[in-house]
Amino acid sequence: SMHKQWAAVDDYIAGLFPSDPVLDAVLRATRDAGMPQINVSPVQGRLLHVLALACNARNILEIGTLAGYSAIWMARALPADGKLISLEFDPKHADVARANIVRAGLADRVDVRLGTALDILPQLAAEGAGPFDLIFIDADKINLTTYFDWAVCLARPGSLIVVDNVIRGGDVLDAASDDAGLQGVRRFNEAIAADPRVTATILQMVGSKGHDGLALAVVRG
Ligand code: SAM
Repeated sequence: SMHKQWAAVDDYIAGLFPSDPVLDAVLRATRDAGMPQINVSPVQGRLLHVLALACNARNILEIGTLAGYSAIWMARALPADGKLISLEFDPKHADVARANIVRAGLADRVDVRLGTALDILPQLAAEGAGPFDLIFIDADKINLTTYFDWAVCLARPGSLIVVDNVIRGGDVLDAASDDAGLQGVRRFNEAIAADPRVTATILQMVGSKGHDGLALAVVRG
């Protein structure tokens, strides 16, 4: 099937790079904890790492930690005095993530904040956290447009905002869907395409995670 071929090519790409025992252990810990395996794929994690390097990120925000897999990929691109804040509302996910981050040697750079993103984002703004150079949005889809608005508030001109799961196997074409998450994605895609605060694109992707996509937006001056 096509999906098998996409996964095989993803394995081929991942296999070109040196093996990574720390990240393999993170994925094992996610499985062993009985958590959903909804982290980005290895190839997508590497993309986040490359993007963090390309934008010289010193200050990164993530919405949706899970077990810390994508956070570790991004935090590895930080300089020694850089910071990554990741938001997670499930205490078990946050615990597993913190343990994984310690194991990855990144505890000094990564802060997992426990709570609902809609509560923590205004707190970050009130604290004067940021501006964040890179923001990765990967939590519930119902509030996607609100998360994106907060991301723009917490960014500076030139910041990069990356949003996962905006294609959903093509389900995004279904305007009549009664899936609230899918409608959240549809509203979001329409909103960023028309948003004068950013220059954006939406990429569909295939791989070990099937068919989905990323939105990429650079905040304008
Ligand atoms: N970014 C992670 C990775 O690639 O390794 C995967 C994140 S997973 C797709 C989404 C995470 O967001 C889950 O751990 C879930 O508990 C968390 N989450 C969902 N809704 C949230 C909310 N409203 N506030 C904070 N976290 C939320």
